[in-house]
Amino acid sequence: MNHQPYLDWMIATTEELNEMLTPENQIALHEHLSQCNSCQELGEAWRVVELEMQSAPMQSPAQGFKQRWQARLETNQKQKQQKQSYSLLGFLILGAFLMLAALIALALPMIKSPILFLWTWIYQLVQYYLYIEFFRLLLLSIFQTVIDVIPMAGLILIIGFFSQLSVIWIVAMRLTTSPWRVRS
Ligand SMILES: [Zn+2]
Repeated sequence: MNHQPYLDWMIATTEELNEMLTPENQIALHEHLSQCNSCQELGEAWRVVELEMQSAPMQSPAQGFKQRWQARLETNQKQKQQKQSYSLLGFLILGAFLMLAALIALALPMIKSPILFLWTWIYQLVQYYLYIEFFRLLLLSIFQTVIDVIPMAGLILIIGFFSQLSVIWIVAMRLTTSPWRVRS
């Protein structure tokens, strides 16, 4: 007796069965199974294995894996955020120091003699240009790396903070460099 086609049908997937198992074949399979004990036993054994494959491996190891994966993802994100906030803090401190240095440099000529003042003024103009260029490059590089990590609300807060700082800076510059103050 040839058992092979019946065995193939029994271990086939649903998709494969749709192709292979025509109504005639189905009748033949039923007939064969009613007569053949070995195929019947094999079919039942296969069904047990199939059930175990469907249920067992998905349950226990997958859950531990999922938890470990989530924990790793969370620590990764925390580290990323920490790194971001540290670099942002460092940038803010650096910016504050640069602004302070610029204000001190601006205030210095008022104490010195008028001839020296002209030269320091030119020198400082060049320095301010370098500061501005430095800030521009720094902002560009930082925003490019930060823009996809920090949420929109954070970006708006940061932009607001910097626009306020720049307003304060401009007002301070106007006050310290206004002509009537230098002449008096
Ligand atoms: Zn058989």
